[in-house]
Amino acid sequence: QNQLLSVRNLRTDFSGHRGAVRVVDNVSFDVGRGRIVGLVGESGSGKSVTSLSLMGLVASPSGRVSADSILFDGSDLTKLTPDQLRHKRGRDMSMVFQEPMTSLNPVRTMVQQVGEPLSIHTNLSRRAIQEKVLHMFETVGIPEPAARLDAYPHELSGGLRQRAMIAMGLICEPKLLIADEPTTALDVTTQAQILRLMVALRDRIGTAIIMITHDLGIIAEMCDEVNVMYAGQIVEQADVFDLFDRPSHPYTRALLASIPKATEKRSGDRMSSIKGVVPNLVKLPQGCRFHPRCGDAMPICRVKSPDLTDLGRGHKARCWLHDKQGAAS
Ligand code: SF4
Ligand code: MG
Repeated sequence: QNQLLSVRNLRTDFSGHRGAVRVVDNVSFDVGRGRIVGLVGESGSGKSVTSLSLMGLVASPSGRVSADSILFDGSDLTKLTPDQLRHKRGRDMSMVFQEPMTSLNPVRTMVQQVGEPLSIHTNLSRRAIQEKVLHMFETVGIPEPAARLDAYPHELSGGLRQRAMIAMGLICEPKLLIADEPTTALDVTTQAQILRLMVALRDRIGTAIIMITHDLGIIAEMCDEVNVMYAGQIVEQADVFDLFDRPSHPYTRALLASIPKATEKRSGDRMSSIKGVVPNLVKLPQGCRFHPRCGDAMPICRVKSPDLTDLGRGHKARCWLHDKQGAAS
């Protein structure tokens, strides 16, 4: 089997005082070994919760994760005991977040934090861990790495902190790294360096990457495959070339149209040019969830919710424009 990860019908529900909300709605996708797979969508689309669900980081009891299956490296994560899961996730899957300052402890040194996964998951001595951290700092391009070991997070620049977080994410040489908007807080030049670094590390270590972003420019630069998410569902799934060649869901087309020219500054709100807002998951529109914002909406779109239709070569879109048969039935 050449897939590293096969997620089938992942569902994540949160219950609050206004009842239960399905934030991730039957999401299915695959990640091949050493592949870089994007999850792209506006904030509130469910892409972060999808990854937190895979990592077992959704807080219970308010959050509940279920799936038909989550095959990861030969075992079904939905069938493991909590102990087995913790071990597997810590060693073989790791995660890098957007703002390193909030995930780093301000009063612990870099070597203590970056080396922590090794002290949890291996029996290496402190000395050996220190050497591994030093080596990882070199690998991720931190200048004067030896001098940074005993530094505190605030003593590093944002770009160096993110490099250190990537070092931490890769220190156990995981099979899968999930990166959630890892460069959004960084300036354009540093962002480009970090993305290039991640691709180089994938090439060298063979770690597969799930890249979570609101930025189709980042998807174009580094991903092999793409899943476009809207209001908790995957609305389009394709090889990266197919997606940019034949964007087939009106939402994907709107995202593409909202990419600013290279001369414009990248910013977190570059998608604001799609008119309308992501629907409130507590009160979803009937039919296609995108219909209130869709320029192509037809009468059926307001009534019936479309399924993912296979357009060939694994390219799928959830839209009545591509499911003539379903629309007629
Ligand atoms: Fe637009 Fe209808 Fe397709 Fe939804 S199903 S994206 S409303 S055309
Ligand atoms: Mg997010």
